[in-house]
Amino acid sequence: MDPTKTKRPYTIGELRAWEPKFRRFIDSANPTQKGCHLWTGGWVNKQGGYGWYRRDAERYMAAHRIVWALDHGVVPPPDVAILHRCDEPRCCLSDHLVAGSQLMNIHDMVLKGRHTYGERHPFAKLTAEKVIAARRLHAEGEGVCALARAFGVSLGPMQRALSGKTWRHVVAM
Ligand SMILES: [Zn+2]
Repeated sequence: MDPTKTKRPYTIGELRAWEPKFRRFIDSANPTQKGCHLWTGGWVNKQGGYGWYRRDAERYMAAHRIVWALDHGVVPPPDVAILHRCDEPRCCLSDHLVAGSQLMNIHDMVLKGRHTYGERHPFAKLTAEKVIAARRLHAEGEGVCALARAFGVSLGPMQRALSGKTWRHVVAM
């Protein structure tokens, strides 16, 4: 069976109902060198390298998508990919997960930032999520100026965030 074609997706209420048990299980995993918490559930059906969880028959959900849903209070729609910044499909650590559309939105904003210099930006200051996205885009070749404009901060703070002088606690990958 194809777990991505589950007939009845779990609702956020259903996920919340067994959140404590689920979280306990993830927290009990021994972190890897990168800090990943790998899904090792006995009740896992492994496909595509992901950890799968099935509570009811024929209702599979990828473990990392459950984590993201619990963190954000909404079940990600099927067309929204939940990506691993650590490139470890079985990882269930919140900090290592990012929604595909989120990342694309940010990237889109960076591109737009080139043309909207001086305009009011929706993001007034940096957050951990933005720092992670900025570092990733920087690693992919995006310039510091473009990133600073896109995230609505001046050059100094962006430079310091990218170099790790600030936001040191944010996992850089
Ligand atoms: Zn990870």
